[in-house]
Formats: sequence, structure tokens, C-alpha cells
Amino acid sequence: MNRDFTLTEEQEQIRELARDFAARELRPRAALWDAKQTFHADVLPMLAELGFFGMLLPEEYDGLNLGMLTYLVALEQIAWGDASVAITLSVHNSLPTEMILKYGSEEQKRRWLPAMARGEILSAFALSEAGAGSDAASLQARAERDGDGWLLNGEKMWVTNGAAAGVLVVMVRTDAPGERRGARGIGAFVVPTDTPGYEVGKKEDKMGLRGSETVSVAFNDLRLGSEALLGDPDKGLIYALSSLEGGRVGVGAQALGIAQAALEHAVAYAGEREQFGRPIKDFQGLAFKLADMATRIEASRGLLHRAARAWDAGHLDLQLSSMTKLFCSETAVWVTSQAINIFGGYGFMRDYPVEKLFRDAKVTEIYEGTSEIQRLVIARSLYQPRAAKG
Ligand SMILES: Cc1cc2nc3c(=O)[nH]c(=O)nc-3n(C[C@H](O)[C@H](O)[C@H](O)COP(=O)(O)OP(=O)(O)OC[C@H]3O[C@@H](n4cnc5c(N)ncnc54)[C@H](O)[C@@H]3O)c2cc1C
Repeated sequence: MNRDFTLTEEQEQIRELARDFAARELRPRAALWDAKQTFHADVLPMLAELGFFGMLLPEEYDGLNLGMLTYLVALEQIAWGDASVAITLSVHNSLPTEMILKYGSEEQKRRWLPAMARGEILSAFALSEAGAGSDAASLQARAERDGDGWLLNGEKMWVTNGAAAGVLVVMVRTDAPGERRGARGIGAFVVPTDTPGYEVGKKEDKMGLRGSETVSVAFNDLRLGSEALLGDPDKGLIYALSSLEGGRVGVGAQALGIAQAALEHAVAYAGEREQFGRPIKDFQGLAFKLADMATRIEASRGLLHRAARAWDAGHLDLQLSSMTKLFCSETAVWVTSQAINIFGGYGFMRDYPVEKLFRDAKVTEIYEGTSEIQRLVIARSLYQPRAAKG
């Protein structure tokens, strides 16, 4: 791996540590996890040992406080090893953890964050429902006041980590039935998964990220005390959408790791495979393809690191996080598709790694906001005075 001179010595060391781990523990097993749809539970304690569950958290909550850039540099390497493992970490670090840190009371932070930072508790984020995806404000699951606590009912779809998690942050309606006031009227609750009334439902059979478990979860008269509510009962969706700014750059890093892996496989294969008496890399049509793949990846990495630096300086905005997710995810889908072409018929076969990378890349254009939604956010931001300055 080449030295990246835009990183500090420490960031470079963490990048190498993550790369070594991915090469040793993830790459050799990723194809099997994919084929059998096996969740990679046994690598989680090793990742916890390396500090991957608390990289963004302050030291007072047992985190490493390394900052977004360092975290994303490491996450890219984990995704290079296996994108399913990367999404497990990305959801945990960017969404529930971040929401508790940002909107939780001191008591909630002390109760949850140290165990989450040490990797003793894996977490999940439950916003989407069968009828509410891009239009998250239309969600139907409800929390009703019940004495001094709350009673939750409803169902959530596609919860990453939902089966293995010890705790979920869930967004449910707190307003009157039938009432809808934009993003308001939705609360965010911290739900321990051992609470009676919490049920894990169907595990999805997915095109890609098959080593990551995506499940539905149901709340059946699930009773929570008042201490489960994060912040204002009216603002849970606003909190969730704000946390997705960090989540989206995490998906950007995941996409980039997939794209980098595809490029490396394509470069190696094009150097070895011979047709018409010479390596196929010597055909200009193919060499130009490799050049475009490498260039788009570098451009994506530049954008990702800019977003990470903005976050670390406290200035990441919706526009930059959406641009980062959009560009990195579309780069990953394009690069992995080109890699399949470079492998020819072998690229279409499960025996070779690039078809899995293509399948894993696709979802990065969908979750945490589809490409269409990212474009809407970016286009809207162009009409706000702050963004127009450039
Ligand atoms: C593997 C996987 C893991 C997931 N993990 C989680 C998780 O952990 N937690 C969670 O809460 N959710 C999760 N999701 C859900 C994910 O966030 C949603 O799938 C995503 O937000 C899109 O919602 P939808 O699937 O309902 O599509 P829809 O919103 O129904 O969109 C369908 C199509 O319409 C387009 N569209 C919708 N509205 C507009 C518009 N206004 N303008 C233009 N086009 C539009 C979309 O871009 C898309 O092309 C996961 C999904 C997957 C596939």
C-alpha cells in the first residue's frame, strides 16, 4: 500500500493496521460468509479489541476519540476486506452511538456509550418501515404514553444488525393518530433488545452484503420507562436525519473500499490474462478503462476526506455529506461493473471476486438515502445562500 502523505503518521498506521486485519481475518472468509449468508459474529470481538466500536466516541465514554477522518480511513480498509463487516461497524458508529452521544442525557450516555465503545453491545438503527423509506416522516410505528413511560407498537423493516444488537435506537410516532406535521411528531427511543415485546422477524435474502444480517423487528406492547426517550419526544426524526450526515460518509467509505478492491483485482488480472499473444492491459481500450477507474476512486477519496475533515472541524453539512455518498457509491457501482468487463466471462462467475464486489456495491446507492434523494438534497442546497458561495 502506498503512503498517503495527506494523512498523519498515526492515521497512516491505523490505515495499515485495518488493512492487515482485513487481509488476514476478512478477505479469506468473505466469499464463504456471502455464499452461506453467515453473520460474521466471531470477528466482532477482534474488531472491538482493536477499538473499532469506539473510534468516534470521547475518552470519557471509553472511546478513542480519533476523529472522523481516521475512522473513515480505517473503515475503507475494512470494506476492502468485506463490505458486510464495514456496514456492521458503520451503522453502530454513525447512527445509534452518535444519536445517544448528541441527544442523550448524561445518564443515558453513561448507561450505554462505554459498553458500546468497548464493543460489548452492538447497536442498530430502526427508521424504515414497509411503507416508509425515503419518506421517513410517514412512518407508522407508535409510542403512546403509559403512566410515566411509553408503550411501543409497530414494525420496522430492514434493520441492519437487528438480530445481534443489544440495543436499538428506534423512531416512532409520538403525535396523535392521523396527525402528521412534517418531520415533527416522531420520537427517538433507546430500546434494549431483551425488553419483553421485542421480536426479531424475517431475515432478508439479499443480493449483496450477505454477511450482514438485515431483519424486520416488531414491537408488541413493548413497555419502556421515561429514561428510554432521547431528547424531545417531537424531534426524533430530526435527530435521526442529522445523524445520517455522518452515516452517509460512512457509506461513502464503505463504497470506496469496495471500489478499491475491484480496481486491485482488475489491475492484477489485466496484467496476467493474455489474449492475442499479450497481456490484455497492453490494449489501450482496456488500459484507459483502468485509468478511469483509478481516477474516479482518487476523486471519491478526495471528496470523502474533505467531508471527514469538515466533520472533524464541526462543519460537515448536508450538501457535502450527500455529495460524498452519491459520488462514492456511484463510483463503486461503476468501477465494480468495469472490473467485471475486464475479467470477461470469468468476471460473471462466483469463483472470481469481482461479481461479489458488484453485488455489494449496489446497495450503497440505496440505503441511508437513495441516489435520487441525495440529488434532491444537493439540488435544494444550491438555492440556499450558504452553499451557493462554493
Ligand atoms: C441492505 C439494507 C439495509 C438497510 N438497513 C437499514 C437500517 O439499518 N435501518 C433503517 O432504518 N433502514 C435500513 N434500510 C432501508 C433503506 O434506508 C431504504 O431502503 C431506503 O431509504 C429507501 O427506501 P425504500 O426502499 O422504501 O424506497 P422508496 O423510498 O420506496 O423509493 C423507491 C424509489 O423511488 C425513488 N424516490 C422516492 N422518493 C423520491 C423523490 N422524492 N424524488 C425522486 N425519487 C424518489 C427512490 O430513489 C427509489 O428509486 C436498509 C435497506 C437495505 C436494502
